Amino acid sequence: MLHILHIYPETIVDGEGIRYSIYLSGCRHHCPECHNPESWNPQAGETLTQQRISDMIREINANPLLDGITFSGGDPLYNPSEFLSLVKEIKEKTHQNIWCYTGYTCKEILLYPELSAILPYIDVLVDGKFEKNRKSPHLHFRGSDNQQIIRISHTPGKEEAQNIPLTRLIPATNASTSSLVL
Ligand code: SF4
Repeated sequence: MLHILHIYPETIVDGEGIRYSIYLSGCRHHCPECHNPESWNPQAGETLTQQRISDMIREINANPLLDGITFSGGDPLYNPSEFLSLVKEIKEKTHQNIWCYTGYTCKEILLYPELSAILPYIDVLVDGKFEKNRKSPHLHFRGSDNQQIIRISHTPGKEEAQNIPLTRLIPATNASTSSLVL
């Protein structure tokens, strides 16, 4: 069963705008100088029950200020099958824009169907491990510059248009954005 470490009902540091952030337990990447090593244990924090999921959905739908939802951790992809059920339910019941942080690279995710099955429910993926030698305090929404902010287009041919808001928001000096068309 999934566990949650933290929920931040309104935050501006985990992606564009005001976001409802859900930090899931469990990470096998063990990056040196990880900002949150207590998140590596998949049993850390609170068990995520169906009741808790319904409460979160109610809270999200009741907040008109939200621009989206962010999954972080830990690595939300630590337990891909359970995460798939969670993200699918939350996407379908809130219709919010969803960001997901993961220690896997986009390339790795595309190699494994169990991981890539989540992509239809994700709008922006922030990929890759934290690399301490590539960290910078000037980066937006990521810790090291190997990590990419990837906007996923679910409409082939529209990826360029979908990239505009993200590249506007993130100054050119920090830009490491790309798009993926499913
Ligand atoms: S992927 Fe994130 S949570 Fe996992 S070890 Fe690396 S920095 Fe920490």
